[in-house]
Amino acid sequence: MSTAATEIRAFTAVTFDSPTKFTEFCKNGGKPLGGIIGGRSVKGMMNVTFETSDPGSLEILATVCEMGHAEVANSVDAATRAFHGTAGNGWKNTTIEERCRLAMRLVELCDRDRDVLLACEIRDGGKVSELAEGDFTQIRECAEYFCRVARNAQMGESEACQVAIGIKGYSFREPWGVVAGIIPWNYPLVLTAWFMFPALLSGNCILIKPAEDTPLSALYIGKLAEEAGFPPGVINVLPGRGEITGQCLAEHPGVRFISFTGSPGVGQWIMRTCDQHGTRMKREMGGNGAAIVLADADPELVARMIGRYTNQHFGQTCCTVHRVFVDKTIADDFIEAQRVFFSELKIGYQADAGTQLGAVVNSTQHSRILQAQRETIDRGGEAVLNGGIAQVEGREGYYLKPALYRTRPGIDCNPAEVFHAFTTICPIGSAEQALQLANNSPYGLGASVWTKDIQRGVSLAKQFRDGTCQVNCHNSIAYGLPYGGQGISGGPGGGVNCEETFYDYTQVKAIYVAEYPN
Ligand code: NAD
Repeated sequence: MSTAATEIRAFTAVTFDSPTKFTEFCKNGGKPLGGIIGGRSVKGMMNVTFETSDPGSLEILATVCEMGHAEVANSVDAATRAFHGTAGNGWKNTTIEERCRLAMRLVELCDRDRDVLLACEIRDGGKVSELAEGDFTQIRECAEYFCRVARNAQMGESEACQVAIGIKGYSFREPWGVVAGIIPWNYPLVLTAWFMFPALLSGNCILIKPAEDTPLSALYIGKLAEEAGFPPGVINVLPGRGEITGQCLAEHPGVRFISFTGSPGVGQWIMRTCDQHGTRMKREMGGNGAAIVLADADPELVARMIGRYTNQHFGQTCCTVHRVFVDKTIADDFIEAQRVFFSELKIGYQADAGTQLGAVVNSTQHSRILQAQRETIDRGGEAVLNGGIAQVEGREGYYLKPALYRTRPGIDCNPAEVFHAFTTICPIGSAEQALQLANNSPYGLGASVWTKDIQRGVSLAKQFRDGTCQVNCHNSIAYGLPYGGQGISGGPGGGVNCEETFYDYTQVKAIYVAEYPN
């Protein structure tokens, strides 16, 4: 194997010790952590709590109060009051500069408490430090990008035009008012930032509903938002289960817009609920990413690079590669190099030095992945690496071994997103055949072509039925370019992290003004 290939390795942990501030935050003086509504910590009328734990050790980190129907209603009221204010002092009336100042103050506080937020990501989210640190940088990048967009955005009245004799017309763009962000567990910090900054900077008051598996980062950000000086009710945090708290949010007509990130099934369900009372929605959902490797690619180099992407957050990354189509002339070498890459992954506790493959988030995911591994074989996949349960000495977590299968055209053994270091590899006879197989999926989040011939790569990549089309890279994001899905992976909405994202959080009205008739 070439030196260049061996240097490519999976995201890796360094030892991480939780700071005292994190432990104290979790302990909360012996009381469960409340939701944050109107600037106050709230226990919730249902008096129901749930525990959030470290998936790699099963240590219970914190007890959290679940928000129900009453708290959703109260948070909508608090956010509505904060939006309108009294005598013109509502959030909708604040200047862009004031919104940016508060957003950047929040970023500074996140920087100050970086270790606490990293602990949320590493301990509650089960992530290795190398990835968690990269995620953390997204808070500042996202805030700075959307401050720039907000400063240049065309809000309010457009230029008027004469629409008829004595009648002028113009458009009027304004924030929705109260918007909710429903967040999944795999990238809690990043996805909270991606929702929070464009929604706030466009003038909305927000309700953040973190996933029940990872509520800590949003609750900590809610606390920092108060310290930053956001007026009460502008940022509210509602922890709880999807079918309780999330469902109540979807059912509340006072929530004018929902930004949902999560699985397609849940996104479809929420959309149907929202449709009943006219709440608008944007959705960023799951994927089952494909990579096409052409005959001119170096099989060992590319196998390791794709392996690194596949194993990003142990395969729990929405846009990553789980289906590979490789030219048959290099397929054996490619499969062998991927086998070596995956077999060498260091399975371990995510906060221990050297870990590259940690525990999956919860027991449901653990059993789902095992089930998917069995089904892949039943459907005709040929195991190169069998998967199965992994043991980590001294730890009681949800550990699994990586799984790799050889398949062939016509065998449909990887139809749905499997959130782990899990890949099927299909030798193919032509790029056109690969493209047709790659596009034969209801998902459409991210796909890539790997070749030395960049022009050919671009021409093939443009033909993917995916929101993110890549040549010689994968899991790509950049502020200013839309990150969204096609098929069941996304929409409506313009994706995240671009100008359209900002405008998704606004509505446009047409205003007509006629002279008074006489
Ligand atoms: P999920 O759909 O189970 O849950 C996502 C969120 O929805 C959670 O906060 C959950 O509590 C809430 N929810 C669940 N049922 C609900 C209901 N009936 N009403 C309202 N809210 C409800 O997804 P998950 O398992 O937490 O996350 C993993 C999924 O998210 C994967 O499919 C992954 O690909 C996808 N994802 C997509 C992106 C993207 O940008 N496209 C990013 C990250 C994750």
